[in-house]
Amino acid sequence: MSCIFCRIIAGEIPAKIIHKDDELIVIEDINPVAPLHLLLIPKKHIATVLDLSESDDKLVGRIYRLAADLARKYGVAENGFRIVANTNADAGQTVFHIHFHLLAGRAMGWPPG
Ligand code: 5GP
Ligand code: ZN
Repeated sequence: MSCIFCRIIAGEIPAKIIHKDDELIVIEDINPVAPLHLLLIPKKHIATVLDLSESDDKLVGRIYRLAADLARKYGVAENGFRIVANTNADAGQTVFHIHFHLLAGRAMGWPPG
């Protein structure tokens, strides 16, 4: 298995695990770009947002609601946070197993670089 996130989900590669359930895992990003930088990752291997199917609709909804719960838990809900799913080259996607960055803890620029 070559996908790094599948290997983390399988327990083959260590990660700082914040949350785990039957469908999702949340880990700390190894190279944080904000004071809070979590990755919300479905256990199912889906390469990019372009590969989502109708049967994944509930899963994506769950990811957003979990991100909101985590933002509240980490005390960043009021100040604000960003949920980002980089897709393909122009967006800078480097791991081709979908994941949602939860970024918070500092003011962020817009538009993103
Ligand atoms: P992307 O660039 O695809 O949007 O995001 C991939 C993210 O995964 C990057 O922020 C990168 O730091 C993170 N990452 C890559 N490899 C690992 C790893 O082995 N462990 C953890 N915790 N994060 C990783
Ligand atoms: Zn994978």
